[in-house]
Amino acid sequence: MKDAIHLLLLRNETNKFYLSIFGITLLKLCYNEYMEMIDKEILDCKLCGELEKLRCNSLQIGKSKILVLGESPSKDGWIVSGRAFYNLDGKLQASGKILNKLLNILGISIEDIYFTECCKCIIADRKRLRECVKNCRSILLSQLENLDFDIILPMGQYPSEVILDRRVERLKDIIGKEFRIKIGDSTKLVIPIYHTSPISPLSFKGNEPIFKDLKSKLNLL
Ligand code: SF4
Repeated sequence: MKDAIHLLLLRNETNKFYLSIFGITLLKLCYNEYMEMIDKEILDCKLCGELEKLRCNSLQIGKSKILVLGESPSKDGWIVSGRAFYNLDGKLQASGKILNKLLNILGISIEDIYFTECCKCIIADRKRLRECVKNCRSILLSQLENLDFDIILPMGQYPSEVILDRRVERLKDIIGKEFRIKIGDSTKLVIPIYHTSPISPLSFKGNEPIFKDLKSKLNLL
């Protein structure tokens, strides 16, 4: 947050003037402006070629201390509904239902978490996912830098690789393990989980012990 505001103050002398008058209100305005800058960066970015872009903000702000990190936006998900894991009919998608059941173990729901994807564009060809996720890393880190969460739960291979900044040969070797990373000035706890897609037999069964363990360790709200 401090860096974002500093950046904006450097960019804009008017902001500096208003900051001295309105204090905390302007901090929020600066923060919104910072997020709009990131959204614009995503819209303008062509690092991976001409890809389909999000039609809404790519970040859900939560009230718990947990951020769930997905892969890339699906065509019929929150980019059209405006609500993470919901479709246009206001129904939870299948992967959202499983994630919600897991979050219920912690006494929270999908509405309470921070959520974003590590790849900001819609990737039709999954073979390109690793490359695009890697290209998107700096945008993701800028987006996460000033948010008030403590724990990141990356869902599956690519979100885990990008947040841990390393290649993962065998996902099962890191699932449920604890890692610590620095984002900006703060240290975050990272615990990789299986993707909650219903296609995976481990989406609930493999993740349930991780969430039970998390519940016993943490006061999340
Ligand atoms: S996936 Fe990320 S890096 Fe690639 S074009 Fe989209 S915004 Fe840019």
